[in-house]
Amino acid sequence: MSEVDVLIIGGGIAGASLGARLAGGMRVTLIESEDMCGRHSTGRSAAFWEASLGAGPARRLSFASKPMFDAGWPGSSTPLLRRRGTVHLTGPHGERVEGAGELTGEHALTRLDRAALDAMIPGLREQWTGAWYEASCADIEVAAFHAACLAAIRRQSGTVRTDAALRAAHRTADGWDVETAAGPIRASILVNAAGAWADDVAERCEVPAIGLQPMRRTVVQLRVGRTGLRDLPLVTDLHNSFYFKGEGTNSIWVSPLDETPVDPCDAAPEEIDVATAIDRFQRAVDWPVEAVERKWAGLRTFAPDRAMTLGFDSQVPGFFWCAGQGGMGIQTAPAASLLCAALIRGEPLPEEVAGIDPEDFTPRRFAQ
Ligand SMILES: Cc1cc2nc3c(=O)[nH]c(=O)nc-3n(C[C@H](O)[C@H](O)[C@H](O)COP(=O)(O)OP(=O)(O)OC[C@H]3O[C@@H](n4cnc5c(N)ncnc54)[C@H](O)[C@@H]3O)c2cc1C
Repeated sequence: MSEVDVLIIGGGIAGASLGARLAGGMRVTLIESEDMCGRHSTGRSAAFWEASLGAGPARRLSFASKPMFDAGWPGSSTPLLRRRGTVHLTGPHGERVEGAGELTGEHALTRLDRAALDAMIPGLREQWTGAWYEASCADIEVAAFHAACLAAIRRQSGTVRTDAALRAAHRTADGWDVETAAGPIRASILVNAAGAWADDVAERCEVPAIGLQPMRRTVVQLRVGRTGLRDLPLVTDLHNSFYFKGEGTNSIWVSPLDETPVDPCDAAPEEIDVATAIDRFQRAVDWPVEAVERKWAGLRTFAPDRAMTLGFDSQVPGFFWCAGQGGMGIQTAPAASLLCAALIRGEPLPEEVAGIDPEDFTPRRFAQ
């Protein structure tokens, strides 16, 4: 039977980035139930980094992650961020971006009037009278980032095992006896990074679930009768009912911002959500829709209070939660993994995340 210090359950970005932080100093194995890592939420995101997304503590994780992405952590040879910008469309009342006061310096918003909007996004329908422009928003090279995290685990003598679903785990006097589809493993600490399945994994480990809810979200790739779209800003109505961003010269990704509660599953798009995406897109711009090139759905998983859950379980020793990342799990992963690694090692928080309070994420808030 193999013996490790830390067994990470789940090979999405949460598990992979934390593994990259811990391997080397500790004996780390990551297990993934699928035949490849990244098949679920991590492989289905819209792949962008946006300062204005989320509130308070989660936003601080995004801010702390930005310089780490810029530095190519954890050893990517290609740049991980590509500047795109976001246009938050507003109507006659000039609605505000939530928490705009926190957005200063490179993240500050600037006001665009209709003439400036027309120059940036030709063909916008007339109800949009202006916008807030967020220049620091960027595309994330998610596949390169995720692959770099997995490579960092292996480079530092950690192990990544696919086809290795956790089936059950039993707490012993000094750790865990774990049954997986790839054989038994003994571990001192379990990390639950199982995304939409994190409550299922907890129950398999005889740890109380915390009430995580996966929510389905749809993205549609449309071919449209307009060219030069690839580098346009991401366009949203303040994240109320849609966003779209350029993918190729005449193709775009559109999401209707659907949020449908579902059980953990291999999510697939529903026709009604695809139709809603197209309808909302056509009400925003006059670009003719020529074809649906691709469509997919993924799960964004939230705790009941919608804050992330990062930390040791308050009732069962040696069980660490890294779950409930919702719609921000990629853009926060560099800082969240640094914070989680310090908590697991029992060390003070490193300077890069020193302004972040782990109490904002503690699983203790769900204790009976
Ligand atoms: C449409 C969409 C758009 C998004 N856009 C963005 C964005 O632009 N920016 C951003 O930051 N975030 C975005 N997100 C959110 C982001 O994708 C997630 O927060 C993030 O991917 C969650 O990562 P994860 O590792 O927790 O989950 P996952 O990637 O789902 O990984 C969990 C893994 O655990 C495995 N697993 C489950 N049970 C077991 C078991 N018993 N044993 C072993 N393994 C198990 C699963 O197979 C899975 O691979 C988006 C999400 C969606 C759906």
